[in-house]
Amino acid sequence: MHSDIQCAICSSNNVKKIRDRFAAKYVNAPIVLDSVEMYRCEDCGEAFLSPEQAKDVSKAVKAAARTRLGLLSPARILEIRRKLDLSQEELESLLGLGPKVVTRWENGRVLQSKAADDVLRVMERLPEAVSVLKGIRESRRAPG
Ligand SMILES: [Zn+2]
Repeated sequence: MHSDIQCAICSSNNVKKIRDRFAAKYVNAPIVLDSVEMYRCEDCGEAFLSPEQAKDVSKAVKAAARTRLGLLSPARILEIRRKLDLSQEELESLLGLGPKVVTRWENGRVLQSKAADDVLRVMERLPEAVSVLKGIRESRRAPG
């Protein structure tokens, strides 16, 4: 069935799609996912992930870490940003982040720091914090 998938250990094409527990770590925090789709080689018993499955696992590990750390979900970050009427670029500039960082938060590929998470929550409750942050940014740009 999956003749295009080859066992990474013995090169057999006799591999089967299964679901199993998967233990991972995110920044030293052990994360266990109960049901992860992966392949298992019927010849040597090795279990492995296709690149697509690895991407899904990476997202699921981050989602579990996000819950454990009590961080805002990607959907909540998007919601807060829209409420404040900021573009991704504007939010990056306000928080002193590099390009595409907010994009990655919002698609779940990267977890925001706790500090950034706190600032997002403050901005949601006190929208005037946006202009305070803008002022801080501008005063840093000004000489002296
Ligand atoms: Zn094998």
